[in-house]
Amino acid sequence: MTVMVDIRSVHKSFGSLDVLKGIDLQVRTGEVTVVLGPSGSGKSTLLRTINHLEKADRGEITVDGAPVGYRRAGDRLYELPEREVLRRRTKIGFVFQNFRLFPHLTVLDNVVEAPVSALKRPRAQAVAQAHRLLARVGLADKADAYPAQLSGGQQQRVAIARALALEPRLLLFDEPTSALDPELVGEVLDVIRDLAAQGTTMIVVTHEIAFAREVADTVVFMADGRIVEQGPPEAVLAAPREERTRAFLAKVL
Ligand code: ADP
Ligand code: MG
Repeated sequence: MTVMVDIRSVHKSFGSLDVLKGIDLQVRTGEVTVVLGPSGSGKSTLLRTINHLEKADRGEITVDGAPVGYRRAGDRLYELPEREVLRRRTKIGFVFQNFRLFPHLTVLDNVVEAPVSALKRPRAQAVAQAHRLLARVGLADKADAYPAQLSGGQQQRVAIARALALEPRLLLFDEPTSALDPELVGEVLDVIRDLAAQGTTMIVVTHEIAFAREVADTVVFMADGRIVEQGPPEAVLAAPREERTRAFLAKVL
């Protein structure tokens, strides 16, 4: 199996605050990695670092074989110009806790925007693809609505369709259901579950343990900037070796 994301000895600090203290993680192509951990443990920073929204201070991350923000020449890494970083970043879909849809655009135009502006796709082609993606997330009838007219669960499904429109090699989810009313969580998890079944490579930060147990190939437990424990869900969730993992699971289950 090939490795889609390869994270080696990654460190990241904000001023004197060490947020990532040496992260090593490999995500294989076609697999789902679920990241768990208490608030402040560095989960969002890790996702943002993968995407080069934050620069690692030390260590190296490759996505699909290459760093997002650097060019390698021999042993040295050189920072890439912003437009090249943006181009590489189009291969990574990012779904945020708060959806972050464009409020002034219709649902359809939210999905069409990036393929047209970032990939220079013909608009008609992007529109046809957007309709297919909206159908896939169960929102074929909402193409002409505006985000404010949708429930949170519907908005998040639009955000997923928007991420898919760039045909990413990797999808990153940062607590995609944490901002939702409980009754809307399931419809978003169903879409992510469906993507997993189709072999989409994903890293999902979530507190939904039942979802992790069912969908994850690997569960990673982070605390205080480190990976405390990782392995298949039946090991990490059912028989955690580390006391900190047990304490966390006792709180969220
Ligand atoms: P998590 O997603 O696990 O809750 P985060 O990665 O968001 O954790 O944050 C880890 C720590 O880093 C927290 O203490 C947070 O306040 C701090 N932090 C995150 N981003 C920044 C930033 N841009 N500047 C300063 N501190 C930050
Ligand atoms: Mg977070």
